Amino acid sequence: MLNFVLFGPPGAGKGTQSEKLIERYQLNHISTGDIFRAHISNQTPLGKQVSALIADGQLVPDAITIAMLEDEVDKNPGAKGFIFDGFPRTVAQAAALDEFLESKGSSITAVIALDVDQEELTKRIAERQKLTNRADDQADKLQKRIEEYFSKTIHVLPYYEAQHKLSKINGIGNIDDIFAELCGVVDQH
Ligand code: AMP
Repeated sequence: MLNFVLFGPPGAGKGTQSEKLIERYQLNHISTGDIFRAHISNQTPLGKQVSALIADGQLVPDAITIAMLEDEVDKNPGAKGFIFDGFPRTVAQAAALDEFLESKGSSITAVIALDVDQEELTKRIAERQKLTNRADDQADKLQKRIEEYFSKTIHVLPYYEAQHKLSKINGIGNIDDIFAELCGVVDQH
């Protein structure tokens, strides 16, 4: 199996690039943010449990997120591989993912981090907010999400760097040029 983690702060372009990657490589896309949003709009018990945290821009606790992610992988036993988008966001999630994949005789192939500076992120999310009206894209909630990123999620990078699995890509510029760079990394595997 080919398993890639697409990594980056809110607004880095993970969703956009994931769509293009799944189309080219026929991998399964798992976005934990999208799954949580589906649970919230369907008002499932999980959705009710996490909606306030997400609306506030906080991370959902690891135990809940990891269980949901593992469940999603298990729902796709025939998958050629996965693109994990928005997961892992903590070192505990990264370690749980390694253990889970290992139990299936698999592993993370590579982690691709989209590098985008804070000024560009704020600008992009303001644009996205106009289009989607996501509650957690509002300025104060966004600030919280960026804080969560820099206090918890950023530590996932050295975790994968130590495994020699990390590739960093400039996430600013033309979408197709960034995609070409991503494909360059994927094609090495
Ligand atoms: P996203 O669409 O990836 O920006 O995720 C939206 C929100 O869902 C995040 O701000 C978190 O509240 C929650 N979320 C998504 N993925 C995770 C994760 N891996 N760990 C914890 N919370 C998550």
